[in-house]
Amino acid sequence: MKPSEIDLHKELKKFFGFNQFKGLQEGVVRSIITHNNTFVIMPTGGGKSLCYQLPALVLDGTAIVVSPLIALMKNQVDAIRSLSSEFGVAHVLNSSLTKTEVNQVKKDITSGLTKLLYVAPESLTKEEYVDFLKGVPISFVAIDEAHCISEWGHDFRPEYRNLRSIIKQLGEEIPVIGLTATATPKVQEDILKNLDMTDANTFKASFNRPNLFYEVRTKTKNIEGDIIRFIKQHKGKSGVIYCLSRKKVEEIAQVLQVNGISAVPYHAGLDAKTRAKHQDMFLMEDVEVVVATIAFGMGIDKPDVRFVIHHDIPKSLESYYQETGRAGRDGGEGHCLAYYSYKDIEKLEKFMAGKPVAEQEIGFALLQEVVAYAETSMSRRKFLLHYFGEEFDDVDGEGADMDDNVRNPKKKVEAQDQVVTLLETVRDTKELYKSKEVIFTLIGKINATIKAHKTDAQKFFAKGNDHDEKYWMALIRQVLVDGLLSKDIETYGVIKLTQKGKDFIKKPYSFMMSEDHEYSETEDEAIVT
Ligand code: ADP
Repeated sequence: MKPSEIDLHKELKKFFGFNQFKGLQEGVVRSIITHNNTFVIMPTGGGKSLCYQLPALVLDGTAIVVSPLIALMKNQVDAIRSLSSEFGVAHVLNSSLTKTEVNQVKKDITSGLTKLLYVAPESLTKEEYVDFLKGVPISFVAIDEAHCISEWGHDFRPEYRNLRSIIKQLGEEIPVIGLTATATPKVQEDILKNLDMTDANTFKASFNRPNLFYEVRTKTKNIEGDIIRFIKQHKGKSGVIYCLSRKKVEEIAQVLQVNGISAVPYHAGLDAKTRAKHQDMFLMEDVEVVVATIAFGMGIDKPDVRFVIHHDIPKSLESYYQETGRAGRDGGEGHCLAYYSYKDIEKLEKFMAGKPVAEQEIGFALLQEVVAYAETSMSRRKFLLHYFGEEFDDVDGEGADMDDNVRNPKKKVEAQDQVVTLLETVRDTKELYKSKEVIFTLIGKINATIKAHKTDAQKFFAKGNDHDEKYWMALIRQVLVDGLLSKDIETYGVIKLTQKGKDFIKKPYSFMMSEDHEYSETEDEAIVT
């Protein structure tokens, strides 16, 4: 049968028992069964697995699925086997298998029984496996968690960079399917380039989660009392509290217990048995709250998590989105509360100090976005979706009123003249500077770069010294989101004028700037997840 003649709804029902495709699934499946390179960007829970599992089951040959997590692969294989009477329909190929097991897997593949072969990226670099796979019909290669290919993703894995050349060895014509749940425009570009599939059919689902309420509170010394009050207001509901250090996780879990809240800690320093026990207690609703490092949550699917609290702000908006995304998966209420203090950002910066320079630059750039999000006074949903390359209508869009800024707007002040000064400064400094040097030029502060360029000798130097550093930082952020300036990603954040910005200089108009965020003090503490 020709791929175009396959009755996909029938196959969907037969294998998965579902009556309908979810979201963009049908288009994706059609693209894959007609042998196209395909790129799928869907938030977690969007139904990505089915996008490649169904084509694998209906096409001839074996589909290779590259996945970074062995535990998740095992779950997927078990799930697939439960859909089919054939045991060999799905296999994992990795270093944990015995020689006999490997031979059985090879036998099932050669006989055409295996439709899905899950492999870790490092297994695919093994010559033995590659030689074997060269000789069998491959329907396509699906690359799950494709953002691991990009240094700009939150989970860069160098072995992902070799995948394209290995796939080429398996066969020039094998279609490639990339799938990810976190894709900023930069990560998307990296994935398409690295997999050499800029021609791919791209399917991007909306990242909007209209049932989630976003709130950022200033972190003060009373944070613990604040969290306790919040949980008591949500009595009987399940929630997760994320902290950046194990020590903090233990501390907060204890404070909650002492205050009559049933809570357990979860972090990589606990032994596997305790971790599993605490996770089960949470899933079975024996406890209300899990206090955790980011070690908690990979692959967890509890649909009725009602709140996610970030005791510490995460290191990127991707992480923030992933972690907050664990709330309200059933479509019901989900309150996402993050505590923010600039001190925490500085802590995260210090934490990056020992890393290679390029990694540091990326880390800083990602952190700047977190700062901007935390300090913004515009619609948080709009900000977040803008970050993921999606435009959101903050008046009529779904969930438009679901954040603190929209519900309690901050005071706005006219900043038209200051925007002109800012844009002119970016222009006059030849669009060479990152925000720090732009601000220094504005307020008349000197550093090595400014000296080297003799910027301090220019007429425009210190033109904005009637306002302070914090003011200009806040203005730059707001102007960036508004699109009058843009940040150049390749140079890790050099500020450029956009056409809209150039037009503004020629013909300025009213620009209402939201009043700034207040800073506060918190204690210092080391970070170990
Ligand atoms: P992702 O990998 O994008 O996080 P999953 O593949 O784990 O998402 O799917 C999320 C959930 O949606 C799963 O419980 C899955 O069974 C369910 N699901 C997927 N496709 C459909 C569908 N067409 N109809 C109903 N449920 C679906």
